[in-house]
Amino acid sequence: NRFMRRELDKFVGYAACKSPEALDRETRAMGILKLDANENVYGPSPRVKAALASFDDAHIYPDSCQTELRKALAVYTGVAAEHIVAGSGSDQLIDLLIRLFVNPGDEVLTATPTFAMYKFFTELAGGKFVTVSRDDEFNLVPEKLIKAISKKTKLIFIAMPNNPTGTQISVDAVKKIIDTGVPVVVDEAYYEFTGQTLAPELDKYPNLMILRTFSKWAGLAGLRVGYGLLPVNVAEKLDAIKDPYCVNAAAVTAARESLNDVDYLMGNVKLMISERDRLFNALSSIKYLKPYPSAANFILCKVKARIALQIQVVLERRGILVRYFNSPQMENCLRFSIGRPEDTDRLIAELQKIGE
Ligand code: PMP
Repeated sequence: NRFMRRELDKFVGYAACKSPEALDRETRAMGILKLDANENVYGPSPRVKAALASFDDAHIYPDSCQTELRKALAVYTGVAAEHIVAGSGSDQLIDLLIRLFVNPGDEVLTATPTFAMYKFFTELAGGKFVTVSRDDEFNLVPEKLIKAISKKTKLIFIAMPNNPTGTQISVDAVKKIIDTGVPVVVDEAYYEFTGQTLAPELDKYPNLMILRTFSKWAGLAGLRVGYGLLPVNVAEKLDAIKDPYCVNAAAVTAARESLNDVDYLMGNVKLMISERDRLFNALSSIKYLKPYPSAANFILCKVKARIALQIQVVLERRGILVRYFNSPQMENCLRFSIGRPEDTDRLIAELQKIGE
């Protein structure tokens, strides 16, 4: 179609995970264990489920300013509501920030491998995606990133911790990058699993922006709610360019109820953290795997014998969905989301069987 933008000819869509419904009946009968998308197996809190069950506002447009949600977020984050913008998942806020800062030809800088959406939205906006590689253990080297800053760099993305590797970066290392004065987006999608945040620094740095989500700790990935902690001038401008009803009414209800049930949800986060550490130890004892330390709700593993894809296929036949990566920087890798204790047992048993 000659009317479509030519620069999108080579644009490839995000390869979303396989839907469990796409699996054959025999596999589904085993009970599908979905460990491929860093979702929260415990799901939303019971208070959220109850609020959604009696939700009766589907016919009314949601509040375009998300006033009540932002007030509740201010209490939760310790950052005033005027700094907060909510979006349809933090994905949408990544898109909006790029649209706010990046003109065609401008550069967006990050250290790879990292979250795929930074590249996706940069290229969709006609920006140039510039990367430096992480070290062999997937650590971000601040000096290397800083060296790659050019006059055209409009945004730097730092996932803290990183997806898909799980690697954490220290607050001090991030500050070195913020000290360059270039606008920096710190993606804290897994904040509740680490407790590490740049939020207390917001007042000090006019170029610091933080993104968070309800997808991981609160189990609301399907409802799409994320938020930004931003300098007030950025928050105001984002608010001006976002579509007014980007967070739907059911999602607002669920997010607000999650904030009323933080202790319950953080209990699940604690369970996932202890399962992550148990899974890490178990994976370390499997000869053909090398797991990388993770600060998030998943673990990335290098498969030493170049059989990562075969393992993914075998696990899928056994009802366990995991994510396969094979790029120059991440050859033969598998990523496992953290599940319940019994899920860890099931995954480990299958991986041990493959080893035999
Ligand atoms: N940032 C990172 C680092 C992530 O891993 C994810 C989810 N995979 C997101 C952002 C997007 O989260 P959301 O569901 O809020 O769009």
